[in-house]
Amino acid sequence: MKNNVIIVGGGIMGASAAYELSRLGRQVTILDLAEVPNRHAASGDQLRTFRMTYGKDAFYTEMAAKSLPLWLDLCQQSSDKFMVQHGFLDLAVQAHGYVEHCLQVLQDHRVPCQVLQKEDIRRHYPMMNSRAFRFGLLHKDGGMIWAMRAVSSILGLAQRKGVKVRTHTHVASLIKAKGVITALKDTAGRIHEAGTFLFAPGAWTPELLKSYHLPIKVTRQQQLYLRPPYNRGRYRQEHFPPFYVQSQGFYGLPMHIHGFMKIAENRKGPPGKPGDVNEREITPAFERKVRTFLKRFVPELAGFTEHEGHVSYYTNTKDDDFIMGRLPDVSNGFLMTGFSGHGFKFAPLLGQAMAQLIVGGKSDLNLHRFRLNRF
Ligand SMILES: Cc1cc2nc3c(=O)[nH]c(=O)nc-3n(C[C@H](O)[C@H](O)[C@H](O)COP(=O)(O)OP(=O)(O)OC[C@H]3O[C@@H](n4cnc5c(N)ncnc54)[C@H](O)[C@@H]3O)c2cc1C
Repeated sequence: MKNNVIIVGGGIMGASAAYELSRLGRQVTILDLAEVPNRHAASGDQLRTFRMTYGKDAFYTEMAAKSLPLWLDLCQQSSDKFMVQHGFLDLAVQAHGYVEHCLQVLQDHRVPCQVLQKEDIRRHYPMMNSRAFRFGLLHKDGGMIWAMRAVSSILGLAQRKGVKVRTHTHVASLIKAKGVITALKDTAGRIHEAGTFLFAPGAWTPELLKSYHLPIKVTRQQQLYLRPPYNRGRYRQEHFPPFYVQSQGFYGLPMHIHGFMKIAENRKGPPGKPGDVNEREITPAFERKVRTFLKRFVPELAGFTEHEGHVSYYTNTKDDDFIMGRLPDVSNGFLMTGFSGHGFKFAPLLGQAMAQLIVGGKSDLNLHRFRLNRF
């Protein structure tokens, strides 16, 4: 029993931690309320961007650089190339801003990158309105990750190491005695016992861990998938990298599902929780906002006629840093949550750090910035 770990949540974080714990000799069981990957969870989407640029915040650039070889290793081990590296493009609208800081940090960390002047932007990405940008910054190690495929492949590797996955098991409460969690109770009344418990329930965290009053706000994020009306070939992944116009809050991904590409806003949406709206429906106001952005920056897309919506949820902390560590009142309870809409790219590194913390009491990655008691 001492060797057994139960993980609540089979998203990318639970899956990554499970795999690493199994490599460290733990008997792991994942409990998830749905199928895994759960299509309604943050990890249950088609694509996630992988960027190494975080403005001035070199800490995240360093974490991305450490995560990259782990992703590539996972692709190799699972024989599934779910990571695609055709580069990541940051676009600057004003001078002296975020993208200059990105450039400085990439150069300081010797991450290969290239500054694109207006003329280069026009030549390489003729669909972009190059006059609207001051310059671009392309880093070739960046790209994107097929999210659900990554979750499935990592779970597959974990299962080969003996990890058990129990789907449709909705954990409802924690049973505690004398400073430890002794078991979990699910909504069907079943009891799940283990020596250690890790909670990685994504946007369901406030519901499951209500009694902890965690400083987390879940927000509803709208994403728009559109079919380029013209020149579709230009939007294929080999020609068109994922891009971010940070000053406008918008990012985009190349064409990927049935000829559709994604445009979304990285700013926090209104409060929400999984299941509270029809997840295919986006508001007319959001559609207008996307068109206005495209009119200015990628004009030939602004007249799109075919589109679909997708709503999913960010699990935000106040400072957008993650929460990783022990639960405050029990010695055998751990938490990884609060990924604030940007955690996916770091999952293998964070899973490794969490497994080391559980097994050895400390991790190679310094988790101080992610401690719960900073709030
Ligand atoms: C729209 C959007 C765009 C994003 N874009 C990016 C990006 O481009 N790059 C990037 O790095 N990151 C991005 N992120 C963030 C990233 O997707 C998340 O940080 C990451 O997927 C979180 O993974 P998770 O495992 O913590 O949570 P989830 O994927 O939500 O998994 C939680 C799991 O827990 C299960 N669960 C919950 N409660 C219970 C319970 N009580 N009992 C049993 N099971 C339970 C759920 O079913 C689910 O499977 C984005 C997020 C969103 C929403």
